[in-house]
Amino acid sequence: MRKIPIALPCLGKEEAQAAYDTILSGWVTQGPKVAEFETKFAEYVGSKYAVAVSNCTTALHLSMIVAGIKAGDEVICPSMSFIATANSIKYENAIPVFAEVDSDYNLNLDDAKSKITSKTKAILLVHQIGMPANIAGFRKLCDEHNLVLIEAAACAIGSSIDGKKIGSHSDFVCFSFHPRKVITTGDGGMVTTSNPQFTERLKLLRQHAMSVNDRVRHESTKVIFEEHLELGYNYRLTDIQASIGIHQLKKLDEMVNARRAIAKKYIDELQQYDFIGLPIEQKGIISNYQSFSIYIDKTSPVSRNDFMQAMLDVGIATRKGIMTAHREPAYEYMNSDPMPITEDFADNSVLLPLYHPMPDEDFDYMISCIKKIFS
Ligand SMILES: *Cc1c(COP(=O)(O)O)cnc(C)c1O
Repeated sequence: MRKIPIALPCLGKEEAQAAYDTILSGWVTQGPKVAEFETKFAEYVGSKYAVAVSNCTTALHLSMIVAGIKAGDEVICPSMSFIATANSIKYENAIPVFAEVDSDYNLNLDDAKSKITSKTKAILLVHQIGMPANIAGFRKLCDEHNLVLIEAAACAIGSSIDGKKIGSHSDFVCFSFHPRKVITTGDGGMVTTSNPQFTERLKLLRQHAMSVNDRVRHESTKVIFEEHLELGYNYRLTDIQASIGIHQLKKLDEMVNARRAIAKKYIDELQQYDFIGLPIEQKGIISNYQSFSIYIDKTSPVSRNDFMQAMLDVGIATRKGIMTAHREPAYEYMNSDPMPITEDFADNSVLLPLYHPMPDEDFDYMISCIKKIFS
């Protein structure tokens, strides 16, 4: 039987060679390759600065600290998101305040607005599965209420709004290079910003808040000693990972185009079914289709869970839609109000396989299986 995975990283000989070369260079943790990756990443997204870190979760954590989020502060975010969204707020003992989402699975502006209190300090806006959220709307809302806007762009590298790449709009935009995302370094993350002070502090915190970093000491002709200026972390990316990232970045546009072509084929094949909700790009929005999610409504002949089992029975992996944080044991203590829209989307959506390259025969096999299941 044919086996189709949910996702596959697009890694080749170039990445393997780059890692090999870095390993033999004598410099394997954060060093010149990390600096090069940061420069190229900032250039790609159109931001002034980029700061590489160990993953997107640590990118979000450092952004919270640098944005000045403190214990007891409220940060509005979607519940319908990967658990790291809410966790990154909790790390500083701040309070995630969950708001509902729209049909694009991104935060609903009116519901978020209704959750603002005197304790609200920031909004954490997630570009869910690569579909850009309403940055302009949230920028305006944040400006009106003096809130920080932090973007969780874990999935959104290569996505854009009106020709401007995600990563160029706000002062804290956090990316992931986990293998489930569009480009990967095994694990890895990045924060982009246009603020030089934020850049400096992010770089300090990721390396134990050490006043002198390894590279500066290595290149110095004078003996220098470091101080530890505040509570810091070890959130470094390694040069091995960065050398892989540099090559992934070169392939990114091609990967996004290929993913978009597969998404278009899905949409063409599935739009005949009234009971399937498909992703829609609003005017000016370009998604990288990090994942392809469909919503199966109540009039479907097959429920979401039965569809997933039927797909697995013919060798095709699927995954349940985006999770909800407020129903997880870790957040049960909050006794959150029910969130009907979020819960409905999470319980009735499913992610279909999407990776590049995907052979035409694999795609055609999937579509014929899906049609049989829904017939
Ligand atoms: C994947 C993902 C993360 C976590 O990224 P890591 O790099 O694995 O820490 C965080 N938030 C969202 C929305 C994600 O999709």
